[in-house]
Amino acid sequence: MDVNAYRQSAEAFLTDLTREYYLHYAGLKETYEIEPIYGRHEELFTARAIDDLRERRDATEPGSDDSRRLRMLLDFAVEGHLGEQTKALETDLAHREATLTLKLEDRQMGFRESSIIQANEPDAEVRATIEWARNEAMERELGGLYREMLERQHRCTAALGWSSYSEMCAECKAIDLAALHFQTAAFNADSEAGFPAVLEPEVRRTLGIDLADLRRSDLSRFFRAPEEDGQFPADLLVPSLMETMLGLGIDVAAQTHVHLDLDSRPNKSPRAFCAPVGVPGEVHLVLTPVGGRDDFAVLLHEAGHTEHYAHVEPALAFEYRYLGDNAITEAYAFLFEHLVGDSEWLRRRLGIEDADALLAHGRAQRLIYVRRYAAKLAYELELHAAPHGRSWDELSARYAQLIGGALQLEWPRETFLADVDPGFYCAAYLRAWALETHLRAYLRESFGPAWFEQREAGDALRQFWAEGQRLGAEEMLDELTGRRLEFGVLLEDFGLVAT
Ligand SMILES: [Zn+2]
Repeated sequence: MDVNAYRQSAEAFLTDLTREYYLHYAGLKETYEIEPIYGRHEELFTARAIDDLRERRDATEPGSDDSRRLRMLLDFAVEGHLGEQTKALETDLAHREATLTLKLEDRQMGFRESSIIQANEPDAEVRATIEWARNEAMERELGGLYREMLERQHRCTAALGWSSYSEMCAECKAIDLAALHFQTAAFNADSEAGFPAVLEPEVRRTLGIDLADLRRSDLSRFFRAPEEDGQFPADLLVPSLMETMLGLGIDVAAQTHVHLDLDSRPNKSPRAFCAPVGVPGEVHLVLTPVGGRDDFAVLLHEAGHTEHYAHVEPALAFEYRYLGDNAITEAYAFLFEHLVGDSEWLRRRLGIEDADALLAHGRAQRLIYVRRYAAKLAYELELHAAPHGRSWDELSARYAQLIGGALQLEWPRETFLADVDPGFYCAAYLRAWALETHLRAYLRESFGPAWFEQREAGDALRQFWAEGQRLGAEEMLDELTGRRLEFGVLLEDFGLVAT
């Protein structure tokens, strides 16, 4: 294999695929034609290419640049290979999901839109009915496909010579999943007692119910928090972003390679995304504003990704520009997203003087996420372990037990396979949250509580961004502060340190 030719082909593949994704989901192109793109680059994802990359990587000096780059190419090849093998199932699943209808007593709704309707529904009983109908449809209509998909993934992993999916991901992504699990399980244990006190007042204030009555079906409503909409006026959405970036020395309007798309289009995806078609040459940020705090959080999150990609050094190796540890780009995204929970930012950008309620709500929401993802990691490690001989029934029961236990409420079993992101992405989020907390503390200590108005803070960020994802989250933190990536800082950040 000619590794340089492989890199060129991989970059062309990602550029074409991301462009197709962007055009389709921005509502600019009706069809979504990814088959021909895979067809043009078949050689990237063959078992032979994977074996070859693995052998080359094994022959390199551990820790060297060569070893790092070949490991990232291997991860790319493995992910693409599994994607190819499950492509038909995925298309089938997407199609069925998109056309599936939930029939409630007095109305019907699309499976996909049901979660938005649920978040906007003020009546808790109606929310519970929607939840029940969605879970029932999930099991009946999609359950078989999800099971087939998981079995296929595990068979492919074995055929490639790994003993389990977990082991494959840990090796290709260079993440010690067992150590991470140890840390995040400790975080959940240490925040267990304080969790209800963080949640209770917020659940009562926003939903008007006692914590004991909180159900899974209430969570999307709890996150949605329509009573906060008035503090986030739509006409400040774009200006608040522009001013924040200007404060850091970035004139988004003058960035010719950054494209903001906030227009409404009939076929535009309701889900915001950042599409790095070219890194750093062509980055799109796509969002359809619907109003309220979420618009601000989502726009800032995607802007964090966008500026990260747009500032990557163009001469950097392909692997470091496009591949590598996604905990890095997610940490920048969360750094900006969390400004909507920062009293200094809320005062300066939105004129909110008393942000106590917003902060308390944001904190409760964030704690739910971290605890849920810590439990997800524990569950996914069991799901993807070497043949565990467990039945679907046992696995779904275990899923409900672990997630429900972490959130201290009853959790449905039906989503035990739908609630799993490929390639242990939950580990990227968990590490990103820890890294972001360290990074935010570093920026505040170095540049003050209004760090987002300091050009020097922007200089520091630009320096990190230029490196793309060459370093892993642990390595980046070590370079930045000499500290280890720990979840104790998250505990402190939540004000939950045991005394
Ligand atoms: Zn993100």
